[in-house]
Amino acid sequence: MNVGANTMTLAARHLGMSIIPEGKCTFPLRVIEAYRPTGIVGSVFKLLNLAGRMQAEGINPQESGVNKLVVGGEAFADESRNYLSEIWGCPVYNTYGSTEGTMCGECNEISGLHVPEDFVHLDIYDPHIENFVPDGECGRAILSTLLPVGAKAGNILLNFDTEDTTVVITRKQCPCGRTHMKIMTPQREAETVWVEGAPFNRVDVERGVFQRENMDYLTGEYEAFLYGEEDEGKLYSVSAWSAKILTRVTEIS
Ligand SMILES: [Zn+2]
Repeated sequence: MNVGANTMTLAARHLGMSIIPEGKCTFPLRVIEAYRPTGIVGSVFKLLNLAGRMQAEGINPQESGVNKLVVGGEAFADESRNYLSEIWGCPVYNTYGSTEGTMCGECNEISGLHVPEDFVHLDIYDPHIENFVPDGECGRAILSTLLPVGAKAGNILLNFDTEDTTVVITRKQCPCGRTHMKIMTPQREAETVWVEGAPFNRVDVERGVFQRENMDYLTGEYEAFLYGEEDEGKLYSVSAWSAKILTRVTEIS
């Protein structure tokens, strides 16, 4: 079971939304035309793919009735979000969750992910999990479940290491009215390499791919290879490391 999708489905039902559960973005396009959904939840690349299928069958995503997209499941570059928003002609809201723990989401401000601080306590630690890092600095997201007296939870997290890195943007009240802190989109630690103390993530490659001028001739699908031999994952000197990285951008017709 996909915990995130299930949680989102239950929440949407509580809000009184009609839900069309599809699972994959390869569903028949008649679903869009027959039901005229106003929002779709998926990953950035699946929603780009869906838009491509629609265009191939003569359906303009911008005239499909969809007026918002909710994405999640993986970190992405702002550039790819902007492109997705342009193709669909509507705002794209990010979410972040883990199977074990929490679900963070963006509000209309689109200025960071609100952490549901009444359900979960989030600490940001340094890479060695020894000290907290100050707000505004990057560190590992560590979660602990908060429960009211007498409440139950399927999963209790105590200082659970998500192995994702993020930054606390602000703890001030948001213009949307929420008082929950906002964090940057977390990135997978496993997709990050450190170069002379500076992090480099798969998303940095994606940022280069999705530069707007590229998207006139690229689909956005890409593969990135890091060649580090047995040293891979360790600290690299810039010259040794940068000589070995190769990024291949694949054009798919
Ligand atoms: Zn807000």
